[in-house]
Amino acid sequence: NSTLNVGTALAVVAVVALLHATLMALVVARLIKQLQWRARHDGLTGLLNRRAMQETIEQQLMRSRRIGDTFAVVMLDIDHFKAINDHHGHAAGDAALKHIAAVLQTGVRAVDRVGRFGGEEFVVLLPGFDLSQAAEIAEVLRARLVAQRIEREGGSLSMSASFGVAEWFGPGEEPSRLLMRADQALYRAKRAGRNRVQVTRADVADAENYARGEL
Ligand code: GH3
Ligand code: MG
Ligand code: MG
Repeated sequence: NSTLNVGTALAVVAVVALLHATLMALVVARLIKQLQWRARHDGLTGLLNRRAMQETIEQQLMRSRRIGDTFAVVMLDIDHFKAINDHHGHAAGDAALKHIAAVLQTGVRAVDRVGRFGGEEFVVLLPGFDLSQAAEIAEVLRARLVAQRIEREGGSLSMSASFGVAEWFGPGEEPSRLLMRADQALYRAKRAGRNRVQVTRADVADAENYARGEL
């Protein structure tokens, strides 16, 4: 009788231990998933972070090299964002960043990728889009952004952004160079008065280097 009791007790202990181990494994798996997500996304906006965006562009590049499909990137930077922080406070600045993230995310196709590249700088990857298609999207995003006010307690605020657009030049162009060209176009948009879209074409020097196999 007592042997039976000991046996039952041991069986119960074994079952409890097994359940416990299973539960722990589930908790750990969930934690790992959360950490993996956090490593690739920006905590404030939920967009891809800079590193994840760079990886995504690398992957797009490999795909484009393989199938010969083009793609474009849009780089944008909020205009006078420091003034929003200064006049409305840092929390309002954060709200503005979340707002722009939502505008970008809802304004692009499901295959497009949106990332927060720096403080108030964003990058959109547009697979299959050439320069003029990407410029059209950038213009739509720009217009949507200025058309919407961000409602907050104690008032609303508006903002604009400047956009630089670049199309992948071809199999020889690395992501860093493509992003540099988009950044240069963005810089021109700022210089030209902000709240506008500028595009960049691969220049003559690029074409010559490319022909020589040096790009
Ligand atoms: P420009 O039109 O030339 O881009 O001017 P700007 O004021 O937008 O540019 P600047 O680079 O001078 O200022 C960027 C500001 O963005 C400064 C920094 O405090 C703010 N910023 C960066 N990251 C965050 C953030 O996560 N939250 C908030 N609230 N502000 C941020
Ligand atoms: Mg700015
Ligand atoms: Mg900036």
